[in-house]
Amino acid sequence: MKVCKFGGSSVADDIQIQKIFDIVSSDPDRKIVVVSAPGKRDKTDTKVTDLLIECAGRCLTDRDHTEVLDAIVERYAVIQRGFGLDDEVIAEIRADLEGRIANRDPSNAAGFMDAMKAAGEDNSARIVAAVFRKKGVAAEYVNPKAAGLLMSDDFGNAQVLPESYSLLEQSLSNRNYIQIFPGFFGYTRSGAVATFPRGGSDITGSILAAAVKASVYENFTDVDAVYPVDPRLVPEVSVGIPEMTYREMRELSYAGFGVFQDEAIIPAVRAAIPINIRNTNRPEAPGTMVVHHRRARQGSVVGIASSTGFCTLYIDKYMMNREVGFGRKLLQILEEEGISYEHMPSGIDNVSVVFREEGFTPEVEGRVRDHIMRDLQPDNLQIERGTALIMIVGEGLYYTPGMAAHATLALFREGISIDMMNQGSSEISMMFGVQSSQREKAVKALYHAFFKD
Ligand code: ASP
Repeated sequence: MKVCKFGGSSVADDIQIQKIFDIVSSDPDRKIVVVSAPGKRDKTDTKVTDLLIECAGRCLTDRDHTEVLDAIVERYAVIQRGFGLDDEVIAEIRADLEGRIANRDPSNAAGFMDAMKAAGEDNSARIVAAVFRKKGVAAEYVNPKAAGLLMSDDFGNAQVLPESYSLLEQSLSNRNYIQIFPGFFGYTRSGAVATFPRGGSDITGSILAAAVKASVYENFTDVDAVYPVDPRLVPEVSVGIPEMTYREMRELSYAGFGVFQDEAIIPAVRAAIPINIRNTNRPEAPGTMVVHHRRARQGSVVGIASSTGFCTLYIDKYMMNREVGFGRKLLQILEEEGISYEHMPSGIDNVSVVFREEGFTPEVEGRVRDHIMRDLQPDNLQIERGTALIMIVGEGLYYTPGMAAHATLALFREGISIDMMNQGSSEISMMFGVQSSQREKAVKALYHAFFKD
């Protein structure tokens, strides 16, 4: 059995949903279909999830939400008209949204926000199931609560609970119709809707594939394959990656490859389900296979990813290496401010901590500085904003000497100064911190060094 997930651009309108229907009905193994909320139809369009967030925000602040609610309903109406579905389908979607708004608990804004966000996928799955049935194919919408997709209660950032796997296996196996499952959300033990982080329908697909032990998890998006570098930064890139390992995919997704949500790898890895990234618009293209092992050529780099929005905190203190508990105290100061650190490269007398800039307001920065100066008494403390991380990834890096030299030389030749360098313990990636303004230039230089020269 195959689990297929279709992203927002694949459910954006009736033309796209027709492609889903053709893809699913062309292979009898495609039994479970996970769908996102309708995404952008063109560059100027707004995703339904973003409209829902706007709508929820308006409700929470007592502003008028009728216009945005109408815009959401209209996205589904385009699909309903395109397939000649009953008007009733749209009336139900409107009633569903109005019900969510009416039932909100003002003391639980995060829970309400999640209930609204989830409406995008939920109604998408209902309408896609109606389209399949209208075309004479047996298909049913699956409710994640009835199916047993249980989540932690961290609204907006929930995680699947381990017991979900066996519950899902029981409820989804051996069905003689196509099951259309909404991505992105599940239910807490107390029955509240909780969503994964943004892009979380990929996670739902991966969980279902692991639960039913699918032969493959097909993740349909709008590109022919995963490219070794972001085509928006390097438009000349034309050859996709045919095969990569889970580890490579995880590192690249983490560092900015938007094709696949980075947390979505984990359930598939644990259950050893291969992931196939494919294009809804060109289903004949084989896409990228993500597997456990592959033969990596010496020195081969699979991709270069980059992402902005990080801060770097540098501390120097003579004899830091002899001070027991220094690292723990530093991390504790960050922990007290709710800051999760991303990387922590260190030297004998110095250490840097890289974390996300979001939420690191000037007030938080002031408190962190005071706390560090008071408790750790460093010789030097610097906090730099606007750091971009660039990650060079490839299983082949592990075997090959001189890769760091090759990368630093390429950056040096372009006059890019490296603020920080870290070779991950996994030994399949090398990371550089540069100023965000240098990011594009750096990615281009590295792409030329590893893929062209
Ligand atoms: N619709 C959600 C989002 O835009 C989840 C997803 O598409 O995977 O983030």
